Amino acid sequence: ATASRSSLKIGLIPADGIGREVIPAARQAIEALGSSIPKPEFIDLDAGFEYFQKHGKALPEETLQKLKNECDCAMFGLSNLHSSPSTKVAGYSSPIVALRKAMDLYANIRPVVGVSASGKPSVDLVVVRENTECLHLTIIHKSNVLSITDGLFRESVRAVAKEWPDITIAEQLVDSAVYKLFREPNVFDVMVAPNLYGDILSDAAAALVGSLGVVPSINAGDDFVIGEPVHGSAPDIAGQHKANPVASIRSAAMMLRHLGYGDAASRIEKAVDTVLVEGHVLTPDLGGKATTEQVTQAILKLI
Ligand code: ATP
Ligand code: MG
Repeated sequence: ATASRSSLKIGLIPADGIGREVIPAARQAIEALGSSIPKPEFIDLDAGFEYFQKHGKALPEETLQKLKNECDCAMFGLSNLHSSPSTKVAGYSSPIVALRKAMDLYANIRPVVGVSASGKPSVDLVVVRENTECLHLTIIHKSNVLSITDGLFRESVRAVAKEWPDITIAEQLVDSAVYKLFREPNVFDVMVAPNLYGDILSDAAAALVGSLGVVPSINAGDDFVIGEPVHGSAPDIAGQHKANPVASIRSAAMMLRHLGYGDAASRIEKAVDTVLVEGHVLTPDLGGKATTEQVTQAILKLI
């Protein structure tokens, strides 16, 4: 499906918070690729908490229809603003959760890679997080249900693994996995986890590579892909030009690779890695003083 495209229609859903700052950075990185990918056409789409406050809906039907009918892929900015219990707002639910379900984006793939001047990364693992189901509702009723749901997940992974005899499967309970992740991150290569554990593990792994602001993801299904930085809307730094654009830019690269544009993705990733290793132009989360725009520009120049 890749070679035949004359243009690449990319839905942009910055949504809330720093999504408005980091999604434009990803757009610029894609534009900087020039003719190495089909001409990108960007389609601005609404969703999010601010949209909900004005219109009573977090994910408008128009956004969903345009994604399904007009877009080849999309980039999404925020996740979960105001959906934590302490800030729960009646009627609001996370639009990315709804999108993952509506478009059957069942796999959330979150690579966590540290960069180093030697080229040998301190951490290099992928969390593959189940994306559309999470815990079954019955779990809150009986404590022993956890073994049934997680047992099903384990059996399902093992059943699929039988078809891939070259892949070695190991198992680790989630609590000891977090412990091991901090003591010996190198023992892990690919971690396959249900929704909740995958979320926790990838945030924990992000701490090992310096910041949530550098960890990308894609939400992938059979028919569509949405790039989405792992971090949330970071209300504490929104609007201050402090947001690290790297997670968003790397998510754009992952999205392009998923669509078959691996060389273009590598160009973006190499530019990002160079800026990180050189360490002159970094946002405050990585100990630097540069703004979102300055980091983006440094990356664009190398692309
Ligand atoms: P949400 O409910 O939307 O997830 P949150 O308050 O949990 O919001 P996160 O976005 O998950 O915030 O971020 C957690 C912490 O990491 C915050 O302190 C935030 O400032 C920081 N952070 C997240 N993303 C970035 C980024 N791109 N650049 C710099 N710091 C970031
Ligand atoms: Mg968060």
